[in-house]
Amino acid sequence: MPEYNKRFSDIEQNIAEVKEKIAQAAIKSGRNPQDVHLMAVSKTVESVFINHAISCGIDLIGENKVQEFLAKKPELNLENCKAHLIGHLQSNKVKKIVGEVEVIQSVDSVSLANEIAKRSVNSGIVSKVLLEVNVGNEESKFGFDLRELDERACEISEINGISVQGLMCVAPVCDDEKVLRGIFSNMYRAYLDIASKKINNINMNVLSMGMSGDYCEAVLEGANLVRVGSAIFGSRNYR
Ligand SMILES: *Cc1c(COP(=O)(O)O)cnc(C)c1O
Repeated sequence: MPEYNKRFSDIEQNIAEVKEKIAQAAIKSGRNPQDVHLMAVSKTVESVFINHAISCGIDLIGENKVQEFLAKKPELNLENCKAHLIGHLQSNKVKKIVGEVEVIQSVDSVSLANEIAKRSVNSGIVSKVLLEVNVGNEESKFGFDLRELDERACEISEINGISVQGLMCVAPVCDDEKVLRGIFSNMYRAYLDIASKKINNINMNVLSMGMSGDYCEAVLEGANLVRVGSAIFGSRNYR
């Protein structure tokens, strides 16, 4: 299957290139390249290619949809690779995903946090989550407004069964590097600000920002987890 082989070698090469760029940006921002975690976003990608990425050293994947992930999960080699949910989560799907991923990155409301917590307590676990921030104030995007983040984080900190580990955002599409860096820098400031308040049950360990088009800018501004899909697997075919 020559086409498979071509795609396998592309994936391997893409991972090496992305890692190199992350390392350069990390060093430029005064950090160690190892401090920035690369997530391979595997939505719409068939399991065989995800497993190939894992065999090339990927140890974290991100999926958007509960059903898609659960369908692929039995085929994935996840012994040395963790999975996070990064897409919008509807409350009626919470029951299915709790306990199935290491982190739910897309907590965008207090009611969703409550639902995850309830299902986690029922299963006898504590779910790790990130709070999603709508950093560009876009109508079309999910997430907390930066201005309400503190208050919502405090509310969520009171809930048993859930543990906040950091923040996540999807930046607006933007060609202006300065504007983009300003947006990521606002996220970084919010991350430091919340960390400095030392709220009980709120940890700021993970700042998840940057995708294929903007991960270098995100790393330059302090991201320690980048979510890269098409720059690793190639452009997606939505059916
Ligand atoms: C699809 C997706 C990504 C990766 O997007 P690419 O542009 O393909 O790198 C990252 N984060 C979220 C939340 C996504 O939905």
